[in-house]
Amino acid sequence: MNVQLPQPTVEEVGRYYDQITDFYHIVWGESIHVGYWPDPAVDLPMAEAQDQYTDVMASYIKLQPGQRLLDVGCGTGQPAIRLAQATGGEVVGITISALQVERANQRAQEQGVSGQVRFELADAMAIPADDESFDAVWALETIFHMPNRGQVLREIVRVLRPGGRLVIAEAFERAPLTDEQRAVIWGGVMANSYITREAYELAVQEAGLVIDKTIDITTQTNNSLPKTIEALNRPDKQEQLRAFYDDDFIAMIQQAWSDLVDEYRRTMGYMMIVAHKPDQ
Ligand code: SAH
Repeated sequence: MNVQLPQPTVEEVGRYYDQITDFYHIVWGESIHVGYWPDPAVDLPMAEAQDQYTDVMASYIKLQPGQRLLDVGCGTGQPAIRLAQATGGEVVGITISALQVERANQRAQEQGVSGQVRFELADAMAIPADDESFDAVWALETIFHMPNRGQVLREIVRVLRPGGRLVIAEAFERAPLTDEQRAVIWGGVMANSYITREAYELAVQEAGLVIDKTIDITTQTNNSLPKTIEALNRPDKQEQLRAFYDDDFIAMIQQAWSDLVDEYRRTMGYMMIVAHKPDQ
């Protein structure tokens, strides 16, 4: 069977997030990434588990006061602001959604960190920043949306100073999937590609980075799927969604999630890659 894989353009991903951002905030929390449960048997609300995830990434990025981090695919700024507040570092976030830029800058203002954290509309495949202008970069659940992983990674390497650190976190294929399986999963989350852990590590190395470690956090992030389905079925969440979306849209999203959930659970994992740019 010949399956057409979704290959969204950068502009389409931007429009998707202009539309879907409120959905994620209602169903998940203030971040737009999965949650992290240190002990999966101990329940935590999704929004708290999202902040735990950010804190785990922060523990690996090790940003120092006064250092600069680029947040690639920053959403509405919750992880960037949490990191800046915890470390005293400076953060520039980029996103391809105009709505998110506005919301993120508003959040920074409300939190009193607009001098330390700012957000811009930009495509990560052409980062509007000078060479070697950041001490660190993180990309939390974002690169799978982009049409060319190698190009994004090369851009990240270009803007990182020698010795600078990178943390990437996102889902991966536990073994290469068939196009039929990919079509089900990618369509539901506006993905351009998911690849295996090994292929991802190779892409990171080919871009010129040294991998310090890859950590499989499938177990700690697994509760996110049942939590999402549970939230989608809750009457209070549905009512909140109806303030932003019509019934057809809500039904369409519910369908997309229930279509992908079984395949996703069977085939996908979640990992974090910690890497650095060599000194010279
Ligand atoms: N990292 C954030 C948001 C993750 S959602 C968080 O954890 O809360 C995915 C993000 O990737 C969105 O903000 C989306 O706009 C961004 N994104 C997708 N493609 C992009 C591109 N080509 N350039 C910049 N950002 C992009």
